[in-house]
Amino acid sequence: MLKLSDISITEWVKENQIVTDAGKTLYFNGDRKFLFKPFSDLSPKQVHLKAAQIGMSTIQIVKALWVAYRMNLSIIYTFPTKDLMQKYVQGKIDPLIDANPALKALVQSTDNTYQKRIGSANIIFSGAEKESQAIAFSADVLIHDELDSSKLAIIKQFQSRLQASKLKWQWLFSHPSLPEIGVHEAWQKSNQQHWFVTCDNAHEEYLSWPDSINLEERYFICKKCNVQLTDQQRVSGRWVAKYKISEQRPFSGYWEPLLIAGWVTAKEIIDYSKGDQYTFYTRVLGLPYTQGGDKVNLKDVLKNCIPDVNDQEGRIVIGVDTGLPIWYVVGNKQGIFYKDSCKDYEPLKALMRRYPTAIMVIDQGGDLIGSRQMRELFPGRVFLCHYLKDRKTLQLITWGVNDETGNVRVDRNRMIQLVIDEFRDKRIPLNGTEDDWYDVALHFTHIYRTTEENALGVPESKWERFDDDHFVHAIVYWRVGMSRFGQQGGRVFMNNTTYMKESPEIMPDQEMAAPDPKRIFDMSLPEKEDDWRDE
Ligand SMILES: [Zn+2]
Repeated sequence: MLKLSDISITEWVKENQIVTDAGKTLYFNGDRKFLFKPFSDLSPKQVHLKAAQIGMSTIQIVKALWVAYRMNLSIIYTFPTKDLMQKYVQGKIDPLIDANPALKALVQSTDNTYQKRIGSANIIFSGAEKESQAIAFSADVLIHDELDSSKLAIIKQFQSRLQASKLKWQWLFSHPSLPEIGVHEAWQKSNQQHWFVTCDNAHEEYLSWPDSINLEERYFICKKCNVQLTDQQRVSGRWVAKYKISEQRPFSGYWEPLLIAGWVTAKEIIDYSKGDQYTFYTRVLGLPYTQGGDKVNLKDVLKNCIPDVNDQEGRIVIGVDTGLPIWYVVGNKQGIFYKDSCKDYEPLKALMRRYPTAIMVIDQGGDLIGSRQMRELFPGRVFLCHYLKDRKTLQLITWGVNDETGNVRVDRNRMIQLVIDEFRDKRIPLNGTEDDWYDVALHFTHIYRTTEENALGVPESKWERFDDDHFVHAIVYWRVGMSRFGQQGGRVFMNNTTYMKESPEIMPDQEMAAPDPKRIFDMSLPEKEDDWRDE
């Protein structure tokens, strides 16, 4: 006869006294109450828009083991990289199994540490960085941990591995990154469950930043009557779905910000809010980062596409981001007319021979040997670009002289900003169609700007990336080369009146004057944007 624990994962946890890898009881009362429904949810499609340190890791792995054991489903469980996967299996999953006789009895040893056999089902743990990882196995259930830190193209290949299964389960967990990417894309196809709490005056609502916190007194409040919310009230909530599960919304979705974690205080949330905004939004609030000027849209870049054919005359400048592969763009004063990636330097050598006056600006740090060999092979035509991150000089671009000839120093963050501003102002023509330039634009959507106060209390901005951004740098290097070798009169430097206003001007000595940093990094916060959760 079936026992309750055969069909209920929570009964099974109780009956077998399952503990965490640290030997602590897996409990769902008190401040962990909000974890109970996500834990017992066995919906085929699930998405968790979660903050960091919310306590999901252990329960997800117990859930995966139980599903393999009771439902006889094969599972692929991915992490962003193989390294992370190995650390997680050895540091968390193996100790969890060792700490629980009930789990230990289920898991049969295999030769491969990263493959657990449970009855006749398998759980395979994998990185999600290479195509070879995605085609090795098939499964009934795909679990993607830290989805938004994984390579999404590889994730898509994993998902195609579900085709053989009738079930096609997908469980996605991650802090979000940007709107409509990764977990946030799935969240929009979910029933969107929010943790609702109730104040002393019987108002029921979910917590949000900053309205649910009294910033002066540093405690949680009801958004409707401003009465203080106790920690007890905050943790005694219930999950409320905004939508019904439907064909359009197949995912059971949970939004798990740190606001609902009873062990995190209002003061801690306020302190987090003063740091890096990307981290605050994605890791603390569990929200995609939506600050307008701090990220680049596909359109910002693609609106620069023009059908004109570039005659490829005049000085050609090649911008090269080294590494494996090597990424490059080719352009002149009429615009950028070619881009590609290559495994070795042969295609670049061919370009330098085909355009005998072409110059190349090449990243000096990615491939120390290759970049210097190119400079020796084409004397006077190849410049190694050195990014400076701390601004010791107000010069945006400094060309080396004497011993430093063949080098150019560039203020990294301000130069990236300049290129983005020029794209936004339609000043960098891309010869071709939007399809031709889509992959270039995509790299621009992988970067975001953060602003933090430095030791002197002055706000400083920097551009960081969460995925491949090679074409961003190839274009920055091209733009550096154009600042010296692209004569005026072309489309890129159309005329001074439109060009000078917002951007550094080209000085007669071919160096650029320093722009007003305040203007480049507009510090004023954008108007409060619509919360994507508001009705
Ligand atoms: Zn109230």
